[in-house]
Amino acid sequence: MSSLNEGWFTEIFQDQGTAFSLQIKQKLHEEQTPFQKLEIYETETFGNLMVLDGCVMLTSRDNFLYHEMMTHPALFTHRDPKKVAIIGGGDCGTLKEVLKHPGVEEAWQVEIDERVTRMSEKYFPELCESNEDPRANFFFGDGIQWIRDVAPGSLDLIIIDSTDPVGPAEGLFALDFYRDALLALNEGGLIVQQSESPMLHTDSIIKSIHTDLRKAGFDHVHTLPFPQPVYPTGWWSCTMAGKHKPVQYFREEDADNRPFVTRYYNAGVHRGALAMPQFMAESLGDPVQPGEG
Ligand code: SAM
Repeated sequence: MSSLNEGWFTEIFQDQGTAFSLQIKQKLHEEQTPFQKLEIYETETFGNLMVLDGCVMLTSRDNFLYHEMMTHPALFTHRDPKKVAIIGGGDCGTLKEVLKHPGVEEAWQVEIDERVTRMSEKYFPELCESNEDPRANFFFGDGIQWIRDVAPGSLDLIIIDSTDPVGPAEGLFALDFYRDALLALNEGGLIVQQSESPMLHTDSIIKSIHTDLRKAGFDHVHTLPFPQPVYPTGWWSCTMAGKHKPVQYFREEDADNRPFVTRYYNAGVHRGALAMPQFMAESLGDPVQPGEG
């Protein structure tokens, strides 16, 4: 739920009794796509803002935190990721980060709503600057069906960069989808999913993601928290799981010597994100800390 009042956009989290506001210069765009209401604003201090169905998706100023943490930890955990699928991610920021890895040979962005990508090209061009990369492929359709149809064992990494688990994204947080994802992955393959707020969702959404991933056959599951100022509580997470591949260890030397620029991610940030806050470790039953395994 959101409101626009005296130059302020406010996203209201009614069930949590909290809200987050950004001061707005102007509304740049509004449309009802076949899937959702899409709004773009110019803010006073956070650049452009994209809102889907009243929920903040991203701003120009702080999206690097989310996009770097949704990609580089997983890409540096996999031994040699070559074929990557992004489910959702229509703003193209995740695709841009994936394609920074020279070893990636093919990346697919599977977004249900083409309008999100078209409007990102217009209002977030900096996120779309790798869209012409010959390794980039676009499919506009349902990611659940796409994963069902892809050849078994053909992917190294699946990144689920989706909206909250309601509407078309609900099935992306489900056991059946994780089973299909496991089949689609190579041996040693990884899945990483945006997994909401540690503060609000550890005992609910994050816990059920862990349970379902394990039920589906992923034997290693770990949640990495990171800051995200414009999302509820300002604290967000991604959950990574491996197909017969531990996810608490990564190619630290390669992360240190990465041949590209990042603004948040580095090997130290990655190590830090692997440390489970105590309440999460207790709730998720994941006592293994980096260095302890
Ligand atoms: N960073 C954002 C967040 O966590 O709020 C997510 C950004 S990205 C814009 C999310 C995208 O997921 C949306 O564009 C939405 O259309 C897409 N999406 C939702 N359900 C989907 C599905 N079943 N298949 C493919 N894309 C989906």
